[in-house]
Amino acid sequence: MPATLPSLPYGYDALEPYIDAKTMEIHHTKHHQAYTDKFNAAVDSEPSVAGKSAEELITNLDTVPENIRNAVRNNGGGFVNHSFFWQIMKKDIEYGGAVADAINSELGGLDGFKSQFSTAAATRFGSGWAWLVSNGGKLEIMSTANQDSPLSIGKTPLIGLDVWEHAYYLKYQNRRPDYIAAFFNIINWDKVNEIYSAF
Ligand code: MN
Repeated sequence: MPATLPSLPYGYDALEPYIDAKTMEIHHTKHHQAYTDKFNAAVDSEPSVAGKSAEELITNLDTVPENIRNAVRNNGGGFVNHSFFWQIMKKDIEYGGAVADAINSELGGLDGFKSQFSTAAATRFGSGWAWLVSNGGKLEIMSTANQDSPLSIGKTPLIGLDVWEHAYYLKYQNRRPDYIAAFFNIINWDKVNEIYSAF
């Protein structure tokens, strides 16, 4: 099943000043597009995976034929992670709902969440992602390298932050901690609650 670059649910400038319009445009039209195209090229070359979505393949990586497994892991992961990332960002959404109740009881509240999430995002060496995931209903904060997805280890992403330099370098240069701090202003808690309540 060919993957299609999803439209952003907002304009490129919608997350200013926390993420600048130029970064959003390049990130979406160049980086996300490239993951999409490379994923499609990989699955096109292997008829046995025809009809399976990127998410299905990423969730069951060990069943993907070895000749395309790395390409699916990297580019299918890139496709799925970015499609998710755009959805969970929006300005001016208040922290609340069932996921906030869970964060309050399991992670020490919003401050506890921010502190642990910041550490995961800042200490991910090189390129990767920081995540809030549900592990069988229990919240966890973790990070992954490259485009690896928590789905591949049976965990459900609730929040993800891209910490590849391409996600922040134009505005923040080497100041990843400033980018991480800015991200907390643009978490779409409504969407996170929708995902959290859906399983
Ligand atoms: Mn990215």
